[in-house]
Amino acid sequence: MAAHPLRLPAPEAVFSDLLTDSRRQANPETTLFFAIPGERNDGRSFIPELYEKGFRNFVVQYGHGNRLRPNDIPKANVLEVINVVQALQALAEYHRRQFRIPVIAITGSNGKTIVKEWLSELLSPDFSVVKSPQSYNSQIGVPLSVWQMSRRNNIAVFEAGISKPGEMMRLEAIIKPDVGIITNIGTAHDEGFLSREKKTAEKLMLFQNAEYLFYREDGGNDVGRLIEKLKFKGPKLQPWHARQEGADNQGRPRVRLLTEGSAASYILPFADAAGTENILHAIAVAQHFGLKPVDIQRRILMLRNVAMRLAFRKGINNCYIIDDSYNNDLGGLLTALEAMHQKNRSVKEGMTLILSDMYESGGNRDELYKQIARIVRAQGISRFIGIGPGLSRHTVDFGAGSSFYPDTEAFLTDFPNLTFRNELILVKGARVFGFERIASALQEKVHGTRLEIDLNAVAHNLKTYRSLLRPQTRIMVMVKAFAYGSGSYEIANLLQFRRVDYLAVAYADEGVELRRQGITLPIMVMNPAAEAFHQLIQNKLEPDLYNPGIMQAFADYLLALPELNRPKPKIHLEFDTGMHRLGFRSHELELLIDLLKKYADLWEPVSVFSHLAGADEPEHDAFSHAQIEDFYTSAPFLEMALGKPLIKHILNSAGISRFTYAQGDMVRLGIGLYGIEPNPEMEGLLQPVGSLKTTISQIIHIKAGESVGYGRKGKAKKDSAIATIAIGYADGFSRRMSNGKGRVLVNNQTAPVIGTVCMDMTMIDITGIPASEGDEVTVFGAGLPISEMAKSLGTIPYEVLTAISERVKRVFFQE
Ligand SMILES: *Cc1c(COP(=O)(O)O)cnc(C)c1O
Repeated sequence: MAAHPLRLPAPEAVFSDLLTDSRRQANPETTLFFAIPGERNDGRSFIPELYEKGFRNFVVQYGHGNRLRPNDIPKANVLEVINVVQALQALAEYHRRQFRIPVIAITGSNGKTIVKEWLSELLSPDFSVVKSPQSYNSQIGVPLSVWQMSRRNNIAVFEAGISKPGEMMRLEAIIKPDVGIITNIGTAHDEGFLSREKKTAEKLMLFQNAEYLFYREDGGNDVGRLIEKLKFKGPKLQPWHARQEGADNQGRPRVRLLTEGSAASYILPFADAAGTENILHAIAVAQHFGLKPVDIQRRILMLRNVAMRLAFRKGINNCYIIDDSYNNDLGGLLTALEAMHQKNRSVKEGMTLILSDMYESGGNRDELYKQIARIVRAQGISRFIGIGPGLSRHTVDFGAGSSFYPDTEAFLTDFPNLTFRNELILVKGARVFGFERIASALQEKVHGTRLEIDLNAVAHNLKTYRSLLRPQTRIMVMVKAFAYGSGSYEIANLLQFRRVDYLAVAYADEGVELRRQGITLPIMVMNPAAEAFHQLIQNKLEPDLYNPGIMQAFADYLLALPELNRPKPKIHLEFDTGMHRLGFRSHELELLIDLLKKYADLWEPVSVFSHLAGADEPEHDAFSHAQIEDFYTSAPFLEMALGKPLIKHILNSAGISRFTYAQGDMVRLGIGLYGIEPNPEMEGLLQPVGSLKTTISQIIHIKAGESVGYGRKGKAKKDSAIATIAIGYADGFSRRMSNGKGRVLVNNQTAPVIGTVCMDMTMIDITGIPASEGDEVTVFGAGLPISEMAKSLGTIPYEVLTAISERVKRVFFQE
């Protein structure tokens, strides 16, 4: 790849880290930044900011670099290339060629990341594994993953994903795998390919030079058949299949795995189909690398079904906990630290790391701990707690602000003497240390009912909607009502990181709370009350002025303020085109224009919008089209009168997917972000975000004819098992769910409510369902969609979500 040094004031510069995303934490002195041009975010535009932070080495695209003024970045080395992404790939390709260790590559439509995580976990006691961080499997993610290979490693596990033809060739050249796994071929990214076969053929290119290819022969997916049909030659094919052989005494499935030339039985830690398939992929390959079935068996029972998730929870004394008390290796530590920085972006809390010894094999331990000490310093960790004899030998390397304990017990004994306050705490330990006890000591104590929020799903849904829109269309996200019950701050923080353009709340208080927690995105307030005007100004919140009355009131308020040298407040204008909730009516258009002219000096109008009344229901489509037309006809009159363009927006979630043509300059995404869309076409594209879970407090057995609960409303028709669960109408589990109306999931089986729902508890009939006290119960979530609960209540998911009371703890998950 030809690189033209545009400017090279410091040609002796060396770098060891690559960066493509300016938001990520990196050491300026050792990093080479690749300014990737993009429609929305142009990497080049972050160079001045990075230069300011001390970064000195940049790769820019031909034709882009000359727009950087040399005086702005006098000491920077700038390399100009024809294509930045390809330059990054070429560098990774070169790096890969320096290693002779076995490289395993995983592709397929689903399960890549989890198979990679599990396989690495199975291998790591015997090998020093390097693996892709998180789900780095794209044209940019793969080179960054491969770049992590170092002399310390003796095996590599990378994942590769593609969305268009032609991409796999390039990934193949970078990864050059020896062993392949193809997980399955589903419908994801089907739109990019002519047929399922073409897509499979493209995926298989990854393995054209590999020695072995593992895949599942039987089962619901077509991989085996497609491979046969395509007559794929190259690697030795290693199909496996599995037979269920009953269960052990704890009800865990026993499965016999048959591979080329071997057969072994395993007890699996979970029973769901996807989890089973994923673990069997990992086992088949672990066997191939010589692991003994007894060792594999021991290790798989310790895997969690959500292995790569970091749980993010509210802790004691205003702390936040990132709980990664499950695996501990250098790569995992870096990933977790990165997640920590992402969280800490807006709230500047103290950062604490509680870390155990590492049991990674290979390499020099002392060198490893010294390296960790350097990382801890570079990452701005203010408090370090090392647990284990290994770390304890390195107290000098960690220096001030650190403390050490020989084991977890010693730490827990000392715990009452320690204070944790306003800290963001990363708890990361190898499994043997049992760090979940530390995480639970730090966690805020609330009753066991919780709403689990999958932040990855939020990001996925945002991306899905973005893909429907033109790149230049802005996105405003509605985070009103505690972000539809999902937790305003955490959602807003994620959206800020993902660079949405605007947030909107219903009332000023909601906006104030977001500002207090450090959210800096512009925020529109839909229903600003006159009493809250001072809050708007103080917190840079932008009101929607929706009728002449509120507009006049805001003008009067501003006129009465002392003359100060402050920026003009930004305002938004709303038209009522048929919703009849808020907004200027069409006969008020002239009055509105008069007011805007009269008060032109007071404020800065930035947007004009309207709201669709029936965007989600085809029966109202004619009405919706009329609203859209009315809006786009009236808005230009305002722009003419003001002599400047306004951001025009009318689409809500259902509008985005059903009336995409009307996206204007911005859309207002709401419920769809949370994974719920009335439009059936979107159903498969979105991921559910929230799961409401509780636990069984007690199980009793009653005789036929006995009654259950208040008013003796529940009657046992036969001898029954009754479980009391820790959720009631005060939590948002409506009393209308009483007497069989509502259903919950216990160990994947439906159990109806028996009797009336109480304030804090509910009784359910679990006759015939294997369950014990303390078991988890799903109120809605995987296997029981929130839409079903809404249906049995005769309402819509919006109401179910926002009715979940604040006392229900929100738990956030993120990769
Ligand atoms: C709530 C709201 C939205 C978002 O609606 P969804 O149906 O949740 O997508 C958009 N615009 C306005 C004015 C709203 O009040």
